[in-house]
Amino acid sequence: METIGSEMMPQKEIQRVGVIGGGQLAWMMAGAAKSLGIELVIQTPHPTDPAVAIASDSIFAPIHDATATAQLASRCDVITFENEFINLDALMPLAQQGVCFRPRLEALAPLLDKYDQRSYLEDIGLPQPNFMTLEGEIGNEEFIHAASFRQPLNLSNLEFPLVLKARRHGYDGQGTFIIKDSTSLQEIWKKLGYAPVLLEEFIPFERELAVIAARSVTGEVVVYPVVETQQEEQVCRRVLVPAEISSAIVAEIEAIARTLLNSLQAVGVFGLELFLTADGKVLVNEVSPRTHNSGHFTLDACKTSQFEQQLRAVTGLPLGSPALKCDAAVMVNLLGYEYSQNDYLEKRQKLASLPQTFVHWYGKTESRPGRKLGHVTVLLDSKEKAEGLTISKKVESLWYTP
Ligand code: ADP
Repeated sequence: METIGSEMMPQKEIQRVGVIGGGQLAWMMAGAAKSLGIELVIQTPHPTDPAVAIASDSIFAPIHDATATAQLASRCDVITFENEFINLDALMPLAQQGVCFRPRLEALAPLLDKYDQRSYLEDIGLPQPNFMTLEGEIGNEEFIHAASFRQPLNLSNLEFPLVLKARRHGYDGQGTFIIKDSTSLQEIWKKLGYAPVLLEEFIPFERELAVIAARSVTGEVVVYPVVETQQEEQVCRRVLVPAEISSAIVAEIEAIARTLLNSLQAVGVFGLELFLTADGKVLVNEVSPRTHNSGHFTLDACKTSQFEQQLRAVTGLPLGSPALKCDAAVMVNLLGYEYSQNDYLEKRQKLASLPQTFVHWYGKTESRPGRKLGHVTVLLDSKEKAEGLTISKKVESLWYTP
């Protein structure tokens, strides 16, 4: 057994897994938890959150509430995350007292803040957009700290467009702004209260790609098929599996994922989002230290889902095969398009009647525009492989038509 860079195996079998976060990512662990004989204990603020219904036990408290996490620790053998909006400093004493977090807190530390994440990726030599942080107030000459940004360090000399990102708590493009000129840079930063932000090069990508990778307690790494993600207004609409890219690019992305997980000595599942440029360059957009929307297809299309893989990794089991069970697949997010309490049963039934189609409905009680309410995965055979986009458009037309 490989032991370098690996954790000691736990003394006793892990039966109860604590999960910080109670959204759909925790909810989708239910099937795998059942088949592996694992009980899930959830920390989430809202009793109506999806995972509460499938958990053996829940603690209703904010994600960043470390006192609640101490309680969670007393009710489970290991704690993992479906949500990274945690207070790392407050959790550190728990880890020092012996609470087992997987991934461990040191592996999360460089990733939670988008600027820290970029700095870490730079340190380990992974390709990414040029970046810097903006701190202080406009007018103060010392407010820009450049990292690998090859631009002059002066606001008036910046080359636009640029991308401004809130350093923490961004999701689904909330907190990400494409900036066209210095006036809008000043306006948007002002709106954000001059909080420190990440400023990075705008990449005129040809396509966006993503990959899920997992690392076990013994240091074994598996990488899922690379997929293409398509965003509209910065929110993922559909995922095409596998991405139509050369085997050289697949190998490059797999190597990026391995380098990252091994450098972090992370245990668990990670999602990587990437840009592919017209001249074939791969750049890392973002790393999520948890299961990811771009990996939802794995529930129906892979031998081991990303959710089972996370439970396997954090409980010290050997990892499962990430291979596809079919030739190809598409995953379509069912996003809210109105404010309502509708459960859209009729639409869901219509979608479920399509061939080789699996509808996952997260059971949220309220719909609002852009909210992720569920997703649909369609499995494709070799003849349908090229029709992924057409099939996803058909699913979307059934969903978004009133
Ligand atoms: P979030 O963390 O909220 O998901 P992301 O940083 O992933 O935000 O950005 C959301 C989307 O914005 C990306 O999927 C991409 O379409 C676009 N985007 C983000 N960064 C850049 C960039 N540097 N250049 C071009 N587009 C970008």
